[in-house]
Amino acid sequence: MALVRTRIAPSPTGFLHLGTARTALYSWAFARHHGGQFVLRIEDTDVARSTDESVDQILRSMAWLGLEYDEGPIYQMQRLARYHEVAEQLIAAGHAYRCWCTPEQLDAMREAQRSRGEKTRYDGTWRPEPGKVLPAVPEGVRPVVRLRNPPTGDVAWNDLVKGPISISNEEIDDLILLRPAPEGSPAGDEALGVPTYNFAVVVDDWDMRITHVFRGDEHINNTPWQINIYRALGAPLPLFGHFPVILGDDGLKLSKRRGAVSVTSYEESGYLPEAMLNYLARLGWSHGDDELFTREQIVEWFDGSHLSKSPAQWDPAKLAWVNAHYMKQADDERLAGLARAQLASRGVAFDDLDRLRRAAALFKDRCTTVVELADWIEMLVTPVAPRAEELAPLLTPPVVSALRALRDRLGEVPWDKVSIAAAVKSVVAEQGLKMPAVAMPLRLLLCGRAQTPSIDAVLELFAREDVLGRLQHV
Ligand code: GLU
Repeated sequence: MALVRTRIAPSPTGFLHLGTARTALYSWAFARHHGGQFVLRIEDTDVARSTDESVDQILRSMAWLGLEYDEGPIYQMQRLARYHEVAEQLIAAGHAYRCWCTPEQLDAMREAQRSRGEKTRYDGTWRPEPGKVLPAVPEGVRPVVRLRNPPTGDVAWNDLVKGPISISNEEIDDLILLRPAPEGSPAGDEALGVPTYNFAVVVDDWDMRITHVFRGDEHINNTPWQINIYRALGAPLPLFGHFPVILGDDGLKLSKRRGAVSVTSYEESGYLPEAMLNYLARLGWSHGDDELFTREQIVEWFDGSHLSKSPAQWDPAKLAWVNAHYMKQADDERLAGLARAQLASRGVAFDDLDRLRRAAALFKDRCTTVVELADWIEMLVTPVAPRAEELAPLLTPPVVSALRALRDRLGEVPWDKVSIAAAVKSVVAEQGLKMPAVAMPLRLLLCGRAQTPSIDAVLELFAREDVLGRLQHV
């Protein structure tokens, strides 16, 4: 096989969508699997909607997921001269032509077609044909460039995901390749009009020697046009693979209106990139019954087979399960850093790195996300409010005496787990109580909740004065 080259080509009109992240992952893994290369291209020709902020978000999400690219980011708006050059070549070869129809004329054309019950399409006014006399070029109208699409025959390809697809050329019309720059544009490259998506994507994929084009199936209808542009250019065709959409848990297309769809929002919600990658990999691809895979395994196994033809369903509970798995696996030092950043974003400064690391080690097994881990750690330094109806019934007179005795004892013992455990044990024994009778109210008073890791381990993480303070009013 020739050197495999794949790409991801997001439009910077928002964050990196989960669907695009999945396509990026598959394209990256496929390239890596075959020892190929992966390119990042920023499709910023929608000038009105593209923003630098969105570019930053996309780059950041790619970096967060660890999808490193071999080339890029390449910006389409820096390649305008190239699209114009290729358009001129197509015109010279008779595969494209200028069209001076005004938007008003096109509207009228479509209106007339509609009223005759016909499908709306460009009627070929400016399409050159042997022996045809073209209209006179009007004054003051800047032309677009259109592809001279073959009028008959089929466009067919064997989709890497969906299998054979064929569309008749009669279904598609002479698409616009280039639009003119707006009146009064400054000189230089900005004076060049911008290409349409279908044209720019072909010129780029051709120039960048892309061998496998993976993208969402909302682009299936664009592919026949693109194939016809490749043919007009005499360029080799890449292989195409179109992934089905991702559905939300309501069975509708995952969209902004129905919950988090950006990679960034999952980062902010405390998911780990390796969990995201794992979950996205499995969403539309399988390797036997495996649910958990490392990056290395994804690369090893992702050969373009076992891709699902049907839409995948976004399953937050499963993502949480995958994330919890990686939380347990994660290095304590790393989790400590992530939790610290999470706390900082809440305005809570926690600078005792050793304590943070020990807290991460103790709590990580109970946490689905870094946000939950930060909740546990925050409790060590910010007051908690145990629910009175939970606490009051536990505070029987012997328990209150035990807690008071414990407070005194904890004021003196060395602050380590063994000494703390011995203090708790002896107080419980002295009062003739059972461990849970004391441990339970202790948990509520200290942590504000009844379920915690072993009480001595939790106590040790607190600063002594905070423990004494929280036991003050028993
Ligand atoms: N800019 C297009 C998008 O974000 C890219 C589609 C493609 O990969 O060809 O949908």
